[in-house]
Amino acid sequence: MRGICIKSGNDVVLVDPFASNPSMVSKVKIDTAAVGLIMKGINRADIKAILVSHSHYDHLMDVPYIMNTYCPPTTKLFVNHTGVQIAERLKVDSTKIIDVEKPAGFTSVSGNIRVLPIISSHPPHIGNTKLYDGEYRPNTKPGQKAFGAVANPMPTL
Ligand SMILES: [Zn+2]
Repeated sequence: MRGICIKSGNDVVLVDPFASNPSMVSKVKIDTAAVGLIMKGINRADIKAILVSHSHYDHLMDVPYIMNTYCPPTTKLFVNHTGVQIAERLKVDSTKIIDVEKPAGFTSVSGNIRVLPIISSHPPHIGNTKLYDGEYRPNTKPGQKAFGAVANPMPTL
């Protein structure tokens, strides 16, 4: 389980919340009990935003479930273009999603917190080589196991 919970006053921002942690050979499936454990102690009404650094399964796969199960209707999801497509496919209300690849400057998510996305690239996986670009390809079969979900991310509920 990992991720970051940032709190300012009562306002909460979650960064890459991830609890499911499937093995590389098992089917990619959200572990709702594990997600429940990381969400325990966070007041749902206080969650102002979820920030996803990139759309590999170990950063994004639990987020649509968290958005739809734990967050109030006002929570914003900041994610790259690939993540927008995945989140929409997994029934996150598109009006809550902010595509960080569309420059918009700072976005206020509360009176205490504003978000400025900064675009960067993924570090190499091995040496100087990137094995997976992480782009979602709508007409290809989604990754059903962790290894495939890195190459073509699409978590299942
Ligand atoms: Zn990654």
